[in-house]
Amino acid sequence: MHKQGASQVPSGFVSSHDVANSLQASPRQYTLENFEIGKKLGKGKFGKVYCARDKATGYVCALKVMEKKELIHYKVEKQFRREIEIQSNLRHPNILRLYGHFHDASRVFLILEYAGQGEMFKVLRKKGRFDDVLASQYICQIAAALAYLHKKHIIHRDLKPENLLIGLDGEVKLSDFGWSVHTPTSRRNTMCGTLDYLPPEMVEAKDHDNKVDLWALGVLTYEFLVGSPPFEEPAHKATYKRISKVDLKIPGFVSVEASDLIRKLLQHKPEKRFPLEQIPEHPWIMKNRPLWPKSQAEKLH
Ligand code: AMP
Repeated sequence: MHKQGASQVPSGFVSSHDVANSLQASPRQYTLENFEIGKKLGKGKFGKVYCARDKATGYVCALKVMEKKELIHYKVEKQFRREIEIQSNLRHPNILRLYGHFHDASRVFLILEYAGQGEMFKVLRKKGRFDDVLASQYICQIAAALAYLHKKHIIHRDLKPENLLIGLDGEVKLSDFGWSVHTPTSRRNTMCGTLDYLPPEMVEAKDHDNKVDLWALGVLTYEFLVGSPPFEEPAHKATYKRISKVDLKIPGFVSVEASDLIRKLLQHKPEKRFPLEQIPEHPWIMKNRPLWPKSQAEKLH
């Protein structure tokens, strides 16, 4: 499956919207033959991800390969279909594009936008924690992506560093819509997501709505600045308890402005959580925005 030479991204290439759109707009049905496969980018629970190049256009993308057998074995076909349906309709600079999909007898392939700087999780663990300038930039971008989703009545429900990728220009790309749902009318009470990022209403198995993403954004803000999530405990039960009580201790080195945003997002009552639309005007963001790289600051203004 491997061929040499497809892993290099020619600079300026991926930013070409025409080429990107040709991947999406082309009526032709893709097969593996259409791609040169480059280096393996990573391995997830359900399959491997390779850097790939569309032979016709030269466009570099990520190809996620999953075994049908596994999707069936783990009973995730439905979740997987929903993920494809949701993600392929999203267009936002901070949401990973899904250009298309195809399959052969045994595998399903997703054609994804290539996130050149890889996983946020790895970058965070390597750095330990982010400074205010970097963290505020990321949080503002994630807030913009969430606001876009919520406007489309989609809740992500699984926001965590493992589900964030970083693009070639250092921009955040929200990915993994496996747990996300459309919320036409009803509120939901299914338990899902990862423990550390669950809000009180979910650990208490109550109904929840799109405000769960605001809570997770608060957890993420804390984790970016501190290096670990705020309610982390060795035992699940203890984590649940701390979440339910909002037992929040913010270390002294976190700035007053950042602490204020964290507290305003980590509110027990969902309706009291700080609204996404106001995040760009929050003092923490306003104070740090002038220090962001020019390209990022412009994109968000
Ligand atoms: P996943 O199965 O989506 O969790 O992906 C497994 C790993 O592959 C991730 O942790 C990333 O390191 C890498 N990866 C997945 N998607 C992409 C992408 N679009 N661009 C670059 N790397 C990716």
